Amino acid sequence: MLVAGVDLGGTAVNYTLVDGQERFLIDGLCEYPARSKEGPDICLKQIADGLEIAVAKAGVTLAGIAVVGLDTPGPASSTGVLSAKGSTNFVHPNWAGFDIPGNLAKRLGKPVTYLNDGNAGALWGHFTMFGAGDLSTTSISAIIGTGLGGGVITEGKVVKGRKGFGGELGHVLLPYQSIRGIEGLKPGCNCGRTGCLESVCSLGAIERTLLPFFLKRYPGHELGKLDPHQAAKLVRGMAENGDPMCVDIFRVQAHGLGLFFDEMINTFDPDALIVGGGALETKEEFQQWFVDEIHVGMPPQREEQVDIPIHVMPNGDTAGARGAALEALQFARQSGLA
Ligand SMILES: [Zn+2]
Repeated sequence: MLVAGVDLGGTAVNYTLVDGQERFLIDGLCEYPARSKEGPDICLKQIADGLEIAVAKAGVTLAGIAVVGLDTPGPASSTGVLSAKGSTNFVHPNWAGFDIPGNLAKRLGKPVTYLNDGNAGALWGHFTMFGAGDLSTTSISAIIGTGLGGGVITEGKVVKGRKGFGGELGHVLLPYQSIRGIEGLKPGCNCGRTGCLESVCSLGAIERTLLPFFLKRYPGHELGKLDPHQAAKLVRGMAENGDPMCVDIFRVQAHGLGLFFDEMINTFDPDALIVGGGALETKEEFQQWFVDEIHVGMPPQREEQVDIPIHVMPNGDTAGARGAALEALQFARQSGLA
């Protein structure tokens, strides 16, 4: 028994396959062009064509795939119906209100499960700690990229929520005023509010808010001479190499995450906190420093809570496809297909 994971991104579809023993048959990325700008008809054909190639690469056939797990960027309902208002990744008018998993299931003649990309990444993170069969553990994953995605897994299952916004962690409000070193800063969020987790902890936050704020404190810094978009992308590498301003920017992000995780600890009492994404595609030493700073950023906790493990999620690029495949595996097991 095999299931597939299909991660539909803005420009590429990424595939993976997993068997009933939770072994992944594809190492690394297996990509095919998404062509989502051309609308649902062309994009669904691309997904199906790429899947044929992926299964052939793994030496199996499409007939051997019991369930396909799909993940996409949102906003979409918990069952994968895209927002009627459209979204940045699905700009073609025919995507509005489109049921991607339902239509893909018709095309492939197989059940298709759905997660948004943040929740798929979170399910992958959870799996790396606890496996797919453990229905007793809870984890919270924060994935730091251009924005901040992630998800909540309780008792082995993704919290999708009533409207598909379960685990929309980037827009949980923080008591950001307590973060040391950003006194007076009002971090505006893409969503129009002030002080969301994403507004202090994401590449977007660096570009829009943290870099302009810190450049005033570090006059003459070399990043001040660059276009802000380019400069923001250089902050991680410079922080890793010990540049004081960039280290400060990453410390603020870690402390913001500490405040957020503290809220989650008191809400879920989870078994693990997991952090991943582009921000942590660094040397292990820097990852460990970042995790330590997350702990530093947490308010004082009960004695029973302080030993909460914080883990770094492996394999960032394949997290979406792998999480989507794990959701399909869970469905296959529940339906007696596995
Ligand atoms: Zn927000």
